[in-house]
Amino acid sequence: MKFLFCPNCGNKLVDEHIDGRMRRVCHQCSYVHYKNPIPAAGVVLCRDGEILLVQRKYEPKKGHWSLPAGFVEYDEGPQMTAVRETREETGFEVDLKELFNVYGAGDDPRSHVVLVIYTAEITGGTLTPGDDAIDARFFPLTNLPGNIAFSSHRQAIERYITISVGAKHSLHDSS
Ligand SMILES: [Zn+2]
Repeated sequence: MKFLFCPNCGNKLVDEHIDGRMRRVCHQCSYVHYKNPIPAAGVVLCRDGEILLVQRKYEPKKGHWSLPAGFVEYDEGPQMTAVRETREETGFEVDLKELFNVYGAGDDPRSHVVLVIYTAEITGGTLTPGDDAIDARFFPLTNLPGNIAFSSHRQAIERYITISVGAKHSLHDSS
């Protein structure tokens, strides 16, 4: 996506080389459009050797499975987002335990994303797929669905399996 007009004053934006990159710039009010990845956050949550996944109801990657996760709202920190998205998508209340890892990924067509993943444990609620999910359930680490959405989610799950079973594991998106 390339912005045509300045969101500050409405003047036309032009391409200009600033701080080492081409950026969209307004010559009327000096606004510079810095294009940054969108932060997202979620959880890797296991119970009895099974991992909690959510089946996406909407594009992109409709029908594919992912970790409970979503975009960070403007007034949130990533921890709040991870807890909120898990509640919305799975019905579980969780406590975050540790920062698991941070991923940068460019295969979400909406935007480049920086995904912060935490380990978490369930403190309440019951498993209920949210409005934006087809399904939410636990999968044995040895029998995961073939279509895991987004490389960042696959990397997080691979890392979790590698740590859990002590052997390197690779996942592929079957689509
Ligand atoms: Zn402007």
